[in-house]
Amino acid sequence: MSIADNLTRVRAELAEAARAAGRDPDSVTLVAVSKTWPASDVAEALAAGQRVFGENKVQEMLAKIPEAPAGLEWHLIGHLQSNKVRKVLPVCALIHSVDSLGLARDLSRVAGELGLIARVLLQVNVASDEAKFGFPVGVVKAAFAEILTLPHLEVRGLMTVPPFDEDLERVRPQFAALRRLREELENDHGVSLPELSMGMSHDCRIAIEEGATMVRVGSAIFGRRDYGAA
Ligand SMILES: *Cc1c(COP(=O)(O)O)cnc(C)c1O
Repeated sequence: MSIADNLTRVRAELAEAARAAGRDPDSVTLVAVSKTWPASDVAEALAAGQRVFGENKVQEMLAKIPEAPAGLEWHLIGHLQSNKVRKVLPVCALIHSVDSLGLARDLSRVAGELGLIARVLLQVNVASDEAKFGFPVGVVKAAFAEILTLPHLEVRGLMTVPPFDEDLERVRPQFAALRRLREELENDHGVSLPELSMGMSHDCRIAIEEGATMVRVGSAIFGRRDYGAA
């Protein structure tokens, strides 16, 4: 199967999941996760109509962007260290992975220095999984008022990466919990958080059922990653 064929199939599956959940298929943005794949694969996906791409490693993203066609929308979906903020902000349309108050402060400060607005999602560790990045739920609730005061930061919503589980019905409550947290923060602070970034290749269908507005799909588009080969 080619990247174009895979994209056609994935888009049809996402649209079908949205309609089955009574949602408009256009309310779900497909972020094509191109990590480990070369810029030529990004160009192939662009030729098949895909414009939004996600990378989880800063170095890889910064190397790939100049090699890829211009005019694409790049999202950072992996951990960001404060010392890389200055390089990432000018090239990244959305950072899904803001996981601490310190990082939020640094993003706002550097965005101000660069004359930019940092558009971000707050990554939440819904399952309190030790191995994953993300704000614990209680911490994000406590930090949210201050985050809203940061002048050059625009919080667009929330993101989560549940621990891998073949049993999707054990993943579903974590997606539902992220949606409820979004509602709670919106109600408590009188703000709108339009984006919920949740769902990957194997669980994007239930993420859409639970309200995802962005799904981050890699292997179902580009193929199975081989981390050992490089
Ligand atoms: C790699 C990655 C994805 C995509 O995973 P697939 O299983 O290949 O679809 C999504 N989100 C994050 C944060 C990732 O690192």
